[in-house]
Amino acid sequence: MNLLTRIQSLSEESFTEVVAWRRHLHANPELSYEEFNTSKFVAAQLRSFGIEPQEGIATTGIVALIKGKNPEKKSVALRADMDALPIQEINNVPYKSTKPGVMHACGHDVHTSSLLGTAKILQQVKDQFEGTIKLIFQPGEEKNPGGASYMIRDGALLNPTPSSIIGQHVMPLVPVGKIGFREGMYMASSDEIYLKVIGKGGHGAAPELTIDPVVIAAHIIIALQQVISRNASPKQPTVLTFGRIIGEGATNIIPDEVNIAGTFRALNEAWRKEGLQKITKMAESIAEGMGGKCEVTISHGYPYLENNPEVTRRIRKAAEAYVGKENVVDIDLTLGSEDFAYYSHVVPASFYRLGTRNESKGITSYVHTPTFDIDEGALKIGPGLMAWMALAELDSIN
Ligand SMILES: [Zn+2]
Ligand SMILES: [Zn+2]
Repeated sequence: MNLLTRIQSLSEESFTEVVAWRRHLHANPELSYEEFNTSKFVAAQLRSFGIEPQEGIATTGIVALIKGKNPEKKSVALRADMDALPIQEINNVPYKSTKPGVMHACGHDVHTSSLLGTAKILQQVKDQFEGTIKLIFQPGEEKNPGGASYMIRDGALLNPTPSSIIGQHVMPLVPVGKIGFREGMYMASSDEIYLKVIGKGGHGAAPELTIDPVVIAAHIIIALQQVISRNASPKQPTVLTFGRIIGEGATNIIPDEVNIAGTFRALNEAWRKEGLQKITKMAESIAEGMGGKCEVTISHGYPYLENNPEVTRRIRKAAEAYVGKENVVDIDLTLGSEDFAYYSHVVPASFYRLGTRNESKGITSYVHTPTFDIDEGALKIGPGLMAWMALAELDSIN
């Protein structure tokens, strides 16, 4: 049996087990940076395969090595994220979340169980490849500043430094059985912007005695869109959205302050910095010009994610061999963001998508919704595919 067929059959064999792991994680979700039981579960599974995990990296993160023959030759890292979201699940499935208000609505249960499956497969074929596989299970993908930044700070990309890193994410827009790739710029940087507009409240019928923060806030929101339309290059996608505005006055009461919150997305670090400065300056000076004040707080999120073209081409070719060319699709640029981006600024990286949609079963909900679910058939492919890609990166296949 050649190595590809062996990995495919090992992936098929472990399917029931991988689904059981996924369902266990799905039923027991943990929020960002609180993945204590998930981490223990991952470590216990790795030990049961004969892989010794390094625990407690970035508190709940895990790094583990699978050494093939000639382990010093080259190494490749595979990454999964473990955290869930503050969402109340409304799916009625046997593996429904048992924790009120917490749900694996971004498929990180799928990424974790799939990477465990990959680890088990690679451990079984370690006499058939040269080099070292580094497994990274990280906390806090969903929450600033991103668990990936802490994993890097704590040395996840050292000893050994991988020559490349691969990440997988579920994709409810892509049918199950298909795998999506994109070379080059793929996802945006993301920063949270909080504006506190401070005026002076009073009677709605006597505005001359107040400094109305509602009117100031309205001017700021409209004016800031000019940062996008007049300051950003039209050749570079960028977005500024304010999804939250709170002024707790009444029909006849002008409040003391209005709070606005939003997100700024960019695909260029220089523009990201410049854009944030312009947003700050403009909000402050509009408020000041109108007699009030605006306090600007920025929570810096993840940088842009660029898929290294060479790595992406190589793993795409490996995927074509694994699932057939007809099942490999191109995916679009998105202004979504993902903390895998941090790794991509340190080592050559590629982030690909595992199709999980199945219209005939009604599985179509997008990530971050209370009805999100996957066609678990994707887990027949995910573990073996990632194992095969890892071997392609180690030059152990052609
Ligand atoms: Zn998410
Ligand atoms: Zn996610």
